[in-house]
Amino acid sequence: MTFDQFSFDPRIFAGIEEMGYTDPTPIQQQAIPIVLEERDVLGIAQTGTGKTAAFILPILQRLTRGNLRQVRVLIVAPTRELAEQIYEVSTVLGRRTRVRSVAVYGGVSKGPQIDALRRGVEIVVACPGRLLDLHSEGHIDLSHVEVLVLDEADRMCDMGFLPDIRRILKLLPYQRQTLFFSATMPDDIRELADTILKNPVTVQIGTIAPAKTVSHALYPVPHALKKNLLFAMLDQTATGRVLVFTRTKYRARNLARDLLRRKYHAAALQGNMSQNQRQNALNGFRDGKYDILVATDVAARGIDVTDITHVINFDMPDTVDAYTHRIGRTGRVDQPGEAFTFATSDDAMMVRDIENVLNTRIEQRRLPDFDYGDFTPENLFQKQPARTSSPNSRQRNGGRAHTANARGRRSNKARASSRN
Ligand code: AMP
Repeated sequence: MTFDQFSFDPRIFAGIEEMGYTDPTPIQQQAIPIVLEERDVLGIAQTGTGKTAAFILPILQRLTRGNLRQVRVLIVAPTRELAEQIYEVSTVLGRRTRVRSVAVYGGVSKGPQIDALRRGVEIVVACPGRLLDLHSEGHIDLSHVEVLVLDEADRMCDMGFLPDIRRILKLLPYQRQTLFFSATMPDDIRELADTILKNPVTVQIGTIAPAKTVSHALYPVPHALKKNLLFAMLDQTATGRVLVFTRTKYRARNLARDLLRRKYHAAALQGNMSQNQRQNALNGFRDGKYDILVATDVAARGIDVTDITHVINFDMPDTVDAYTHRIGRTGRVDQPGEAFTFATSDDAMMVRDIENVLNTRIEQRRLPDFDYGDFTPENLFQKQPARTSSPNSRQRNGGRAHTANARGRRSNKARASSRN
């Protein structure tokens, strides 16, 4: 199946080519025709499935007709990073069209956003707080909005944006098309969807289980050895881009600092950083200046780096949803990826929850040649006897590296030293 089946304007096809897309992903195959019909959509899709283009492409098609230079499409996203990512996709896909977009979020000066609005745009990609600010100050007219997109609705609720969303809804015309995307559908999200969607078509890609191209492994370890395990793992594993998750901003900052001291090319991405610092970290990760990004859950939302080979959960996530979101950062659009999770004795319950939701057991591994002291991982999850590795286990792969990264990448350490 190719994009030719959709009768997009040739200028939009040029954008698709520029992005390097050849075939539509499953969510694009399903959602594009429905959005083109101007119907409401309830999209249950995890990140990494190509959902941004699934709504941007038909929206651009709609905007090739009708008035220019008034806000006709409002896309609301929970984080600046996600807003920026959507803005970039819409800019590249729409480059040959006359459609203009602006990203509107807090933490940066309002001036350039207000200037762009004044010059006239058709698409506003916004985080809720700044959008409401600019509206109350009279900088944005939402009375011509024809399409509302709510992206990562579950995360918006998690972050406490529900009251802001309700306020925004009141500012929009009743007659409009609404596209609602969420990776998960807990009750409050379904309720919100029910109240704002009219006769929607549901598009579901996968369940809340993570992308199939991601293989998972659990590394039982005591707290005190986590850092050394990470260093040893990075040395032994031929990784490409690695995203490491910590529970708190401070842990992200400190871990990135320790990695830098050990000559790894690492950066932190956490909420205490300024927007500029975050953007520098993200750009550096994307451009290859950094191999390792140490992030918190919230800061990592919207990271659009396609070839993350490994996600390492240095700290166990708090919820199964967070686990799904984290590992959705690797294995994107059929690229293989690996997700390693460090598990301490405190994490046994969460491991069980994740396994229940994924409906699978996560293979437990032990890093070869790592000094675990007197720690025996088998003690960790007493109700879950340690599994022996499967026949194709990477651990047995010649006993060298614990991962089958046969893509010829050098280890991070080799890369780090070769750059020093
Ligand atoms: P998303 O789920 O929108 O965050 O997209 C995940 C990644 O897939 C992004 O890097 C997109 O640029 C990429 N992508 C989206 N659509 C396609 C496609 N049809 N073919 C290849 N890559 C795509």
